[in-house]
Amino acid sequence: MRIKRRPFLKTAIGASLATLTAKAQDAPPAGKKLGWALVGLGSLSKNQIAPALLKTQHSKLAAVVTGTPEKGVQWREQYGLAEDKVYSYENFDKIIDDPSIDVVYIVLPNSMHHEFTLRAARAGKHVFCEKPMANSAKECREMIAACEAANRQLGIGYRCQFEPHHREAIRFAREQVFGPLQHVDAGFGFAIGDPKQWRLRKDLAGGGALMDVGVYALQACRYLAGEEPLEVVALETKTDPVKFAEVDETITWSMRFPSGLTANCLTTYHFNGRDDFSAYGTKGRFGMKPCYGYKGQTGWTSDPKIPLAFPQTDHFVAEMDAFSQAILQGKPFEPSGAEGLRDLLVIEAIYRSIASGKKESI
Ligand code: NAD
Repeated sequence: MRIKRRPFLKTAIGASLATLTAKAQDAPPAGKKLGWALVGLGSLSKNQIAPALLKTQHSKLAAVVTGTPEKGVQWREQYGLAEDKVYSYENFDKIIDDPSIDVVYIVLPNSMHHEFTLRAARAGKHVFCEKPMANSAKECREMIAACEAANRQLGIGYRCQFEPHHREAIRFAREQVFGPLQHVDAGFGFAIGDPKQWRLRKDLAGGGALMDVGVYALQACRYLAGEEPLEVVALETKTDPVKFAEVDETITWSMRFPSGLTANCLTTYHFNGRDDFSAYGTKGRFGMKPCYGYKGQTGWTSDPKIPLAFPQTDHFVAEMDAFSQAILQGKPFEPSGAEGLRDLLVIEAIYRSIASGKKESI
């Protein structure tokens, strides 16, 4: 089948690349930093986001929101925050009167993204929300509507879209450096520990490996393809039905795209080692392994003259500054809520296919 492509800059991810490659004259005023409030002070906030906010050029930590007062004290001491910059989940809405907060970054269990996005938008704040955007496409639509009604931006924490290897891979695909893409194979998973954690509870996580890390493989297929999948067929397997009583453990799925491109994906909470994509064009191949972690991105291609190799970067610094820059410049940010919604639409079709045992349209 002949492969036809939509112009990439018309797609969400194309717009994201355009935002990132904004010319120097578009740069915001030197020294201007937007204030970010972190909601949820768990592992990601503590180990990745707060340290990144010490390195950002256009973003700074302005406040924290936590359900644990002792954590608030620790964070005040560590980051030099005033007492009134620690909010609780209950008094969070008071941020409406806090002009030091421009952006609310939601780093809570997935089921809480929807509520806190709506509350942040009502308080007149821009929202940056961790992946997966929400537990359902319906919630995503409500989050988008709430931010639109408040005239505030909604960004999703798809940090790989700001990582140089991934961005170069997208360029390979878009410019057909290895010919038009015919197939993508992508997988991400790990052996999950503590059986009591929220990631294994359906009410908090919305799903299992697919919602948590499968979304990275799905993202890779979508941003390499530059078009939206039409249909999906999926298989689920569980080796431990007790631990994974509420959520999925391992899922494989295949997608068909309008151009004829196909994709095969795997996600798992059962074993380590899958963390890659391979992309197959008519004239060659390229891929990454490791691929989706915070560091260690390693690329390969079938042509030694065209390397896929860059220095390591801090993905969180890049994505937060890109969001602040978009706000400062009054430009739409991508990946936006629309991008998060597109993933949830595919994820819902994957779960429908598992339930029906049939191919499902997206
Ligand atoms: P975590 O368990 O380490 O932290 C979750 C935080 O939410 C904790 O501070 C916890 O106290 C708080 N919380 C509030 N109500 C809770 C409840 N009912 N149950 C459990 N915790 C509750 O999780 P995390 O790894 O920081 O993940 C937070 C979000 O960030 C998730 O949506 C996850 O998908 C996302 N995430 C993204 C990346 C990435 O690379 N972009 C990496 C890890 C996590």
